[in-house]
Amino acid sequence: MISENQSELIRDLHHVWHPCTQHKDYETTPPILIERAEGIYLQDRQGNRYMDVIASWWVNLFGHNHPRLNKALTQQLEKMAHVMFAGITHQPAIDLADSLVALSPSGLEKVFFSDNGSTAVEVALKMSLQYWQEKGESQKVQFAYLKGGYHGETLGALSVCGLEIFRGKFEKVLPSHLPVEGPDCFRCPYGLQRESCNAECFEPMEKALGENSDTLAGVIVEPLVQGAAGMMMYPPIYLKKLQTVCESLGIHMIFDEIAVAFGRTGSLFVCGAHDLRPTFLCLSKGITSGYLPLSATLTTDEIYSAFYGEYDDMKLFIHSHSYSANPLACAVANETLKMLTENNFLESLKPKIATLKECGKQFEGLNGEFRQTGMIAAVELVKNNKERHPFEKRIGYQVFLEGLKRGLFMRPLGDVVYFIPPLVISEAEIETMLNTAHDCINAVLR
Ligand SMILES: *Cc1c(COP(=O)(O)O)cnc(C)c1O
Repeated sequence: MISENQSELIRDLHHVWHPCTQHKDYETTPPILIERAEGIYLQDRQGNRYMDVIASWWVNLFGHNHPRLNKALTQQLEKMAHVMFAGITHQPAIDLADSLVALSPSGLEKVFFSDNGSTAVEVALKMSLQYWQEKGESQKVQFAYLKGGYHGETLGALSVCGLEIFRGKFEKVLPSHLPVEGPDCFRCPYGLQRESCNAECFEPMEKALGENSDTLAGVIVEPLVQGAAGMMMYPPIYLKKLQTVCESLGIHMIFDEIAVAFGRTGSLFVCGAHDLRPTFLCLSKGITSGYLPLSATLTTDEIYSAFYGEYDDMKLFIHSHSYSANPLACAVANETLKMLTENNFLESLKPKIATLKECGKQFEGLNGEFRQTGMIAAVELVKNNKERHPFEKRIGYQVFLEGLKRGLFMRPLGDVVYFIPPLVISEAEIETMLNTAHDCINAVLR
């Protein structure tokens, strides 16, 4: 219950509407009033510390209150906080575009900035649609997407989201695209293992693309990890197959790496690590290491040149956001990229990834699956035979409550308890994180 000295929380209850929150839950467990954040820890007003196990919704890479990122931000602040980005440009954005192009796979040459992940996706979808119109193929107006896919929650992004929980109430106004059965390795219908299979589950996608190539503008996927679906992980061979088919049929391949880029899976970009060449690459979340909202949609010269011509031809891309390429955000992003690429930083993740894997073995005794891709790990809790626990039992939410008692801030997706810590977490802290989470799960399932 809310104690009297927590008047701020009462004021919060009066006027604040939080994202993805059933506010009735706050009657018994109000939001935590965080006042400071340092490294991988959040500190509330009473001085209690919580490990930020999910990197503040998957955005934080280098920990909170980082001296270098703070400095990059304040140095830029002294010069200029914000200017519009049409008819004006600035050094932080130019530098950032340069670096993103240099660091991403060859072929991605142009960078369009916006300010959150959903809009990075919207931009990719709109560019793809307009490209086909400019090319005289205006029948190409559909996108294929995975049934476990998540690409943000604006109506456009929702139209390519496969998850009922996000789209259900809005179904009637969503343009209809093409949902496709995607990889589900834990419940593999072919009875195979993700480590050794040949992505046999690509079959429905191959069929869908083949049958609809005339009308398909593109296909959008979350490479390797379908995050919001419950950290569903699948092998890169699926993406290789996707690339082969997309290239042969003339379908844009849109990679939404918003959650998985910038070191999360152990490499800077999934596409780069696996020699994949998407037509569009959507980035956000880690791009400013959790400091400021920023996103980027990268694409090819081929796409860009279809929009290039005399003004009267009206081929320009008419899409704008007030805070596109905000200089403060770009400055922090530039520093983030420096930190990711210097001193073998990505190499330093290897022992941490190994610790995550080793420590994850303790979950093997539970009904469910422990899975891991780089610095992302998850435990899916189920009954016997991989059957889901009843929805109303809210197993994941109970694990979250146990975590709060033990100094872990988690936020399970349904009954999937997952870990996306800031990349600077130490090996000892990884052990504490997983051991504590194990205790929490035991306390709930006992
Ligand atoms: C978070 C996320 C988005 C949406 O980003 P927002 O900044 O929350 O709009 C889109 N795609 C993926 C894969 C994400 O994880």
